[in-house]
Amino acid sequence: MASLSSSSSLWHGVSLRGPRSGSFAATRSSPLIGCRRNFRRSFFVASSALANENREFVIVGGGNAAGYAARTFVEHGMADGRLCIVAKEAYAPYERPALTKAYLFPLDKKPARLPGFHTCVGSGGERQTPEWYKERGIETIYNDAVTSIDIEKQTLTTNSGKLLKYGSLIVATGCTASRFPEKIGGNLPGVHYIRDVADADALISSLEKAKKVVVVGGGYIGMEVAAAAVGWKLDTTVVFPENHLLQRLFTPSLAQRYEELYKENGVKFMKGALIKNLEAGADGRVAAIELQDGSRIEADTVVIGIGAKPAVSPFESVGLNTTVGGIQVDGLFRTSVPGIFSIGDVAAFPLKIYDRVARVEHVDHARRSAQHCVNALLTAQTHTYDYLPYFYSRVFEYEGSSRKVWWQFYGDNVGETVEVGNFDPKIATFWIDSGKLKGVLLESGSAEEFQLLPKLARSQPLVDKAKLQNASSVEEALDIARSSLPVDATV
Ligand SMILES: Cc1cc2nc3c(=O)[nH]c(=O)nc-3n(C[C@H](O)[C@H](O)[C@H](O)COP(=O)(O)OP(=O)(O)OC[C@H]3O[C@@H](n4cnc5c(N)ncnc54)[C@H](O)[C@@H]3O)c2cc1C
Repeated sequence: MASLSSSSSLWHGVSLRGPRSGSFAATRSSPLIGCRRNFRRSFFVASSALANENREFVIVGGGNAAGYAARTFVEHGMADGRLCIVAKEAYAPYERPALTKAYLFPLDKKPARLPGFHTCVGSGGERQTPEWYKERGIETIYNDAVTSIDIEKQTLTTNSGKLLKYGSLIVATGCTASRFPEKIGGNLPGVHYIRDVADADALISSLEKAKKVVVVGGGYIGMEVAAAAVGWKLDTTVVFPENHLLQRLFTPSLAQRYEELYKENGVKFMKGALIKNLEAGADGRVAAIELQDGSRIEADTVVIGIGAKPAVSPFESVGLNTTVGGIQVDGLFRTSVPGIFSIGDVAAFPLKIYDRVARVEHVDHARRSAQHCVNALLTAQTHTYDYLPYFYSRVFEYEGSSRKVWWQFYGDNVGETVEVGNFDPKIATFWIDSGKLKGVLLESGSAEEFQLLPKLARSQPLVDKAKLQNASSVEEALDIARSSLPVDATV
């Protein structure tokens, strides 16, 4: 039942490479401490042009992190009349992961739509509709990206020409989807990238007319979109350059299990394949993709899921990280400029548990970094962020699907792996490095089993690898891992 293999320490969707956080901390200026009276800078200005434009706290970016930050401001009683959110999108913050999950369900299978998944429903919290912000005195400016910042004057300019003065600023601009260049057809009609609701709506319009879908990328976006497309009963092919799905997280053996499941659901794979060109048909829409080996796959809809880039513009001047990208912050999410903070996908922060700087493009970090940053900003809290990497995916969850998939991973995928379970539906993979349990992935666990995973990954107990390998079931393997935990293990 158990199998053993080696793995590299690459983490899907997470840039964990970078200098050790010790040196990072040593080179940081410490402009502020997390105490209200100290973060306040020149909040009130004399300029009459800005007299009605003073905002005490401004969050730029209306995504996951912004929604959770707003909730934390409210919890501290510091939102009413003091907080402003400036967002490029036309919607109040929402749980972005839904866009490639329930949002893409076939139209007759009750797809999710706003306002159903505004933050903070993803973690069991209140649904923060546009009215929620209004009722709590939070100013929201939608559909208006911030285009420049003046650090000296503490002002922001928006696309529509608004000039906003801030006291403290939180940059929560997330990422943008990586695109193929225009010259190889990356902008053709019928070619889609998914980052926001507008992108997902455009994809749904294409899916309504589609016959042949090609998904480029074997990461989580590719896996989720492919699972959705076959739910629409569309001819679906996933093309990616690696040897197997989710190469940076899954072991080859685990990937094979999922690939088989996808195939049973009608998905075709072209692995080890590089895109050369996206071809247009006579109507100007995408008609096929051409691979480097000369082969061609016809497609009327192409979805590209090849990664994302931190949306640092126009905030480069607050300090960028050159190894993992993004805006460099310390363990309290302070940038090198006093009064400016950064959270969520865009922030490069010290990942204390593994002593390195990281950017984490996952919703759990967006939520927690937002809460930690606002708590530090508004109170005397000085303990630094101590994040445990967590990643999950959910696919084939639409009505009528023969097997719903939900897996979770905690920790670091370093060292050897032990796989236990027959994938019917359960399976678990344990990553063991120098005898210590460093990471664990579980498919189709119970609530109690899923709760065990962060404890294991946080405690990194010494485990008996041979015992794990001989476990006859996932339940037994988890019991072995649980029994290796210290009695006082916490998350
Ligand atoms: C399709 C999809 C599926 C995902 N699925 C999962 C999943 O299953 N599990 C998981 O853990 N994570 C998932 N993620 C990642 C997760 O959604 C992100 O980690 C999370 O949304 C990050 O929150 P954020 O607030 O930092 O950025 P975002 O939620 O991306 O929000 C950033 C916001 O800032 C806005 N913005 C950018 N620049 C400006 C500007 N100059 N002015 C004003 N506004 C600006 C953007 O338009 C956006 O609305 C998924 C992401 C995507 C795109």
